[in-house]
Amino acid sequence: MKIKEIMKRYDVRPSKRLGQHFLMDESFLYKMIKAAEITKEDEVLEIGPGLGVLTLKLADYSRKVVAVEKDGSLIKILEDLLKNRKNVCLINEDVLKLDLNRIKKDYFTNNYFKIVANLPYYITSPILMKVIENRDIISKAVVMVQKEVAERLASLPGSKSYGILSIAVQLYSDVEIVSLVGKGAFFPPPKVDSAIVKLDLQKKAKVDIPDEKIFFKIVEAAFAERRKTVKNSLKNNLELSPEEVDTIFQKTDIDGKRRAETLSIEEFASICRVFMELKGMKGWDKNVFH
Ligand code: SAM
Repeated sequence: MKIKEIMKRYDVRPSKRLGQHFLMDESFLYKMIKAAEITKEDEVLEIGPGLGVLTLKLADYSRKVVAVEKDGSLIKILEDLLKNRKNVCLINEDVLKLDLNRIKKDYFTNNYFKIVANLPYYITSPILMKVIENRDIISKAVVMVQKEVAERLASLPGSKSYGILSIAVQLYSDVEIVSLVGKGAFFPPPKVDSAIVKLDLQKKAKVDIPDEKIFFKIVEAAFAERRKTVKNSLKNNLELSPEEVDTIFQKTDIDGKRRAETLSIEEFASICRVFMELKGMKGWDKNVFH
C-alpha cells in the first residue's frame, strides 16, 4: 500500500513535533538496504518506523527487525500493517531512552546488529552519538539525515562544516554519503534536503588518543569560539596560563594561529597528549575541568 493510501485508511495526521516525513520514493529504500549490505543473517534495528515502508523491506531482506517508534498512535497501525511479518518486533519507546545492550540481549543473537533508519531530524545528533557510543555492538548504520548533517559527518579539516560531530563520527567509522534525496521524496515534504549516509563502525579509535574524555574536552574547547585562533580558544576554555598554552603549541609543532576547523584528528590527539603531560594526568581528573 502507498503512503497516502495508508494515511487515508488509518486517518494519520503527521506530527511535525516528531519529525514525521514518510518516505514515498521506494527507490531510496532499496538504496538504503543495498548500502547496509543486508543479508538473511542480519539483525536490524530501525529507529522511527513511521508507517512501516522501510520496515517491510527490511523484514524481507534480513533475519530480524526490531523497530522502535515513539508515537504510540502509529504502533497500532504498524501492528496491523506488519501482522504477516513474523520477524518484526515493535517497541513503543523513545530511542534516546533505550538501552541498546538490553535490546541486543533480549532480541538478537548475533554479536553485532545493523541500524537502518530514516531518522527524526530533530534528534539526529544525540542518535548518532548513541550509535558511536554503542559501536561495540553495531557494525553499520545507514541513516537518512538532513543534507547539511551528512556534509558535517563527512567533512574534512579546512571545511566550514567540519566540527565536533565530524571528529566524533570519523574517529570511529568510515563515513560515506550514499545518495542525496530531494524534499519531494517524502510526504509531507520536509523544509530541507536529505541524504543517505553510511557509517562503517569500528570498536577501536582510528587515531591513537590517550584518553577519550579529555580528547573531547579539548575538541569542545577548541570549537567553542570558532572565530578565534585555536590557541586563544584553548587558553580561554581550558583555563590555561599563557605559558602552558605556549608549551602546547611548541611541543606539538602546531601553529596556534590556526582555527580549530583546520586541525586534523591526529593534531587534536597530539594536543591531548601534551596537555595531559603538562598537567601530569594519567587519565580523567574532574579537578582539571570545571
Ligand atoms: N521510517 C518512516 C519512513 O521512512 O517513512 C518514518 C520516518 S520519519 C522521518 C521519523 C520517525 O521517527 C517518525 O515515525 C517518528 O514518529 C519517529 N520518532 C520521532 N522521535 C522518535 C524517538 N525519540 N524515538 C523513536 N522514534 C521517534
